[in-house]
Order: sequence, then C-alpha cells, then structure tokens
Amino acid sequence: MAKKGEHRVKLGLTCTVCKSRNYITERNKINTESKLTLNKYCKKCKKVTPHKETEKLK
Ligand SMILES: [Zn+2]
Repeated sequence: MAKKGEHRVKLGLTCTVCKSRNYITERNKINTESKLTLNKYCKKCKKVTPHKETEKLK
C-alpha cells in the first residue's frame, strides 16, 4: 500500500518567454505523467504567458 502523499512532487512553472520560474505547483505523479503548459501571469513579462512545468524541486 502506498502512503498518502508519497507520489506528490513539487514542480516549478517556468515562463516560456523569459525563462523565470514564477510558480511552484504540486502534482500527483500518478495522475499526471506528461508535462503541462499553463497560461499564467508573468511579472517580468507583465502579461499572461505560457508557463511550462520544469524539473521537480527538492
Ligand atoms: Zn516571463
């Protein structure tokens, strides 16, 4: 039996325009295997840009 929370990974959401990591999100590895691109507001770009999930944080 897998413990609850075991498969949660922290991911950074990085702006695809300026490459700055603006958000940190938690994701369940089992439910989501593929990387997502989300439209989020970027402070640097001062607009909504596509943010890509990046490497998991430790
Ligand atoms: Zn940006």
